[in-house]
Order: sequence, then C-alpha cells, then structure tokens
Amino acid sequence: MKWRDLMCGEVRPAHVGQKLTLAGWAARRRDHGGLVFIDLRDRSGICQLVVNPERAPEAAALAHEVRNEFVLRATGEVTPRAADAVNPNLPTGEVELQVETLEIVSRCPPLPFQLEEENVDETLRLRYRWLDLRRDKLQRNMALRAGMVGVIRRVMEGAGFLDIQTPILFKPTPEGARDFIVPSRLQPGRFYALPQSPQILKQLLVIAGFDRYYQIAICFRDEDLRADRVQEITQLDVEMAFPDVEFILGLMEQMIGEVWRECIGVELEQPFPRMTYAEAMLRYGTDKPDLRFGLRIEDATELTRGSQFGVFAGAPAVRFLRVPQEFSRADLDRLEAFAKEWGAKGLAYLVYDEEGQVRSPIAKFLSEEELAGFRSEPSSTVLFGADEPAVVARVLGTLRTKLGEELGLAAPGEFRFSWVTDFPMFDWSEEEQRWSAAHHPFTRPAPEWEQSFDKDPGNAIAVAYDLIGNGNELGGGSLRIHEPELQARVFSLLALSPEEQRTKFGFLLDALSMGAPPHGGIAFGIDRMTMVLAEEPNLRDTIAFPKNQAGVDPMSGAPSEVSEEQLAELHVRVVPPETPRK
Ligand code: ASP
Repeated sequence: MKWRDLMCGEVRPAHVGQKLTLAGWAARRRDHGGLVFIDLRDRSGICQLVVNPERAPEAAALAHEVRNEFVLRATGEVTPRAADAVNPNLPTGEVELQVETLEIVSRCPPLPFQLEEENVDETLRLRYRWLDLRRDKLQRNMALRAGMVGVIRRVMEGAGFLDIQTPILFKPTPEGARDFIVPSRLQPGRFYALPQSPQILKQLLVIAGFDRYYQIAICFRDEDLRADRVQEITQLDVEMAFPDVEFILGLMEQMIGEVWRECIGVELEQPFPRMTYAEAMLRYGTDKPDLRFGLRIEDATELTRGSQFGVFAGAPAVRFLRVPQEFSRADLDRLEAFAKEWGAKGLAYLVYDEEGQVRSPIAKFLSEEELAGFRSEPSSTVLFGADEPAVVARVLGTLRTKLGEELGLAAPGEFRFSWVTDFPMFDWSEEEQRWSAAHHPFTRPAPEWEQSFDKDPGNAIAVAYDLIGNGNELGGGSLRIHEPELQARVFSLLALSPEEQRTKFGFLLDALSMGAPPHGGIAFGIDRMTMVLAEEPNLRDTIAFPKNQAGVDPMSGAPSEVSEEQLAELHVRVVPPETPRK
C-alpha cells in the first residue's frame, strides 16, 4: 500500500484534475455546517482539504470528528480554488483537494497547547517536545541545522579533512567548565569524565599522522545555565598539522560563506574584517561585539586628565558612548541601575535636547575643550564610564549591547562577522589566586612571548582567534604547543605541580615528546551557528531535545534517581544535598 502520492506542500495548479492521496496532520479544521475544510500538514507545508457532504457523505461524517493533530489520509481530486479563496501566502494556495475518501489514521486528545500559540511556557513545550517540534519555527530550525551540517561536511571533506570519532568516556579535557563524570563499574572508585571538547584527542590524532581531522563532536560542560548556554554542545571540531593561520581562517570563512549561501540564500561580504582583542575591548567593551550597529565606545582619558570634574580627573580610564536618543530622567535612572549591576559606581551623562542644548548635572564642571570633545547630535545622550579600564569596558560594553537591542539598532536579516585575534593567554583568578588559561592550556604563546610569557603572564598574547557573528562567539581556536618543555612551562604557570602534570596530562606530554608536528585548529558551535543563521534568540530551540535551565529534561524526567542495586554495582553512595533540589 502507498500512503501518499505527494507531500502536502507540493500540490500545485499543475496537478489540477489529478486524483491524489495525501497524508499528514490536521493543522486546522473549519466546519462550515456543510463543508468542512481541513489544513493537512506535513514537513513540506500545508494543503487544504475540502470535504463536501454531497460529494462524499462518509468522509464528511468522519471529518466532523477530526480534531487538531489527528493523522489523516485523504484521497480526492485536485481542483482550483475559487478566485476569492486563493491564498497568495501559501505555495499551495491556488488549489485544494476535493476529498472523496478520508481515513483517520491516528487520533490526538485535546492539546496541552496549540501549535500556533505564542509564548507558551517553555517547560510545557519541552514536556511535549514532540508536539513543540511540529511548529513551523522548530521545523525550520532543525532543517537549517541539518542543512548546515551537510554543507560543513562537504567543505571539510573537499579540503581533505578526515572525519574521526573520539570517545565520550574519557579523562578531563579542560575548556574552563566543570566536568560531567561517569562512575566505572569495572574499576571501582574510578570515574570517566565526558570531554568538554575533543581538544587533547584531536591533538593526538594529528600527532598520529592524520594531518587534517574534523568531527561533528558533542561536548559536555557542566555550567550554570543561562539563557544562552547549554550543557551538551555540538561543535565542528577541526585540527591540522603544519598549520597556517591564514589557511585555517580562510577555510572557515569559505565554510561560513557556503552555509549562508546554501541554507538561506544570503551572500556574505568577505573576507571578514579582523580586529585584535585589545581593539574589541576598547571600542566595544567585549570580545564578541554585535557589529550590526556602530555605537562605538570612544576614549576620553587624555582629554579629561586635568578635568574639574573629579570623577573624570581621578579615573584610570574615561570612555563614553554617544547614543542617538534623548533619554528622560527615568531612562537614565534605569540605565544607571543597570550600569551599577555591572560594577559601575554611577553613570555620568550629557543629554542633548532637540535644539542641541546640553542638560546634565556635570556640564558645569566641564571645560570648553571637554564639551567640544563630547559634543553630540541634537536628541542624543552621551553616557560615561570612568574607572579601571576593565570595569569601563564591561559597563559600557554591556550598555552598548543593551541599548542596541532596546533601540532596535540591529536590523533583522543582517549578518556581520569578524575575526578577533591576539587574545591574552591567561586570566587572573581572584578567587583562586592563580592564573588560568584564557582559552585552554594547550594554546601557543605568540612568538614574541614564547620566552617571556611566564615572566609577565598578564600581558602575554596567544596565537588564538575567534569568529564572532551578530554578537555571538561562533568559533574559536588557536595554534597549539607541540614542544613538551613549553607545555610543561605553561602547566607550571597554571600552578600544576610536576606530579599533577603527570597524572592529568602525562599521556599528552609523552605524545608531544614522540615526534609531534606543529599543529593548530578551531571549533565552531553548531548550536550557536544555527541560532545566528536562523535568527533564533533561544539557543535551546536550535536543539531537538534540550534540557531546561536547571539541566532537567521535562519530557523524560532526566536526570533521574537510580536503584540502590545500581548504585552498589557502581560503588557509589549518594549524599543528599542539604538544600533540597530545585
Ligand atoms: N577546543 C576548543 C574549544 O572547544 C577549540 C579549539 O581550540 O580548537 O573551544
């Protein structure tokens, strides 16, 4: 038996007069007393079924029973719609199927939410993800994601990269998050760690002679979840021997260009611009600025050195944003509260009204020269940050992002990418009172820092690069350390004792000592890329079965408790938390 002749969304005027069988879900039913109209949906789209009691009394009787999301199979003749019933917004909008026989293949109870309903609670959506995934937006996101992975594979294979799988049960490979660990039944008291990325493994593959490796890899990072974070990320993971940074960046640009062209028909402007990390922090206050709008941070540290306004005169850095909006007192209070959340002590401002007159409690302290330097268009506001450079960058950077969103400065359908290069090698952790790797500990220092990175870790620069798109970090990578001595020096700087270096990374140090070629690579977040490609604000909606923000899958209930026997087998005992689970 044949279930269907065509997909619902494929029916066209060319089929008029043909007898066709379609199968799909009842997306909508309109019962006009006599005639019943049903929108029959499958992945390709919708076709309108018309059931006329005079032509098909049996089908009509059954059609009254149909409810949303019933699975139906209908046979009938394709006919043109009456002129006033043509729907120009639907590819099938000029035709309909005059049903002769109708079959209810499967039924569905009243739905927990309607598919076209907006703002349905996310937990409810995830609880019934199989319904949620039927929505147009999620169907599109999944298709874009699959299309993207297809293009990626083609580009990588075309460039001679070999797809090699690496294990999920492994040892910690650090990327700055916590590890998920899995107890071993066969080795009592021992645990595997799920890889935060295949970083070490891909280096070993290149050392093993697979000089161009790639993989669509799942990485596990036990992080506190925010709206834009998930614990299981999928990435395009790339590594090569005898690397050339230009080659890596060029190939990745080609990949992005082809994904955008083939998946959404957008021709990107290439080559992508580049900026250093230092420039990004200075101009945008973040290493992943949204470049769809300007609103650059300007520096006034020099200009305000001898300022009569004490806050400016005494601050190590004074910078400002010229915002094309005349803010009210209430707006400014709200923005100041926001700035304080990000570490500012206050938010000095100059408001220029429609006539270009300045309104500000600080204006009277500012010299002619300073005012000339801050001068802005009528109906605009200048917002200041005056503090340590890092605080100013953070405060003005987050304000810039927020204002970009609030003022709608980023046009939908626009895509702006940039490479960010010359990242610092290390970050100082106040909490732990030690240096940590800014990227991961296998990242190579820039040639001019190879001798001296351990003498001045705060300023050492790595050969590391990120690709940013519309304010998101899409990918990042680096050249790696291939000399065991250099790697040991970096480990030492990260406060790993020689014993820890052996137990944690001995196998890598051994491999590096046995003919390791220079190597480097990059990884791209597939979830994040889908988010930007689909212009989907919710990262979880780029993933078929995501967990919620508490790391729980409301559909299956994972993570779940296990039996005492299972725990005993694994040699594990549960110590209940003092505060109950959320
Ligand atoms: N392993 C890095 C990451 O997952 C990427 C890389 O350095 O290739 O972010």
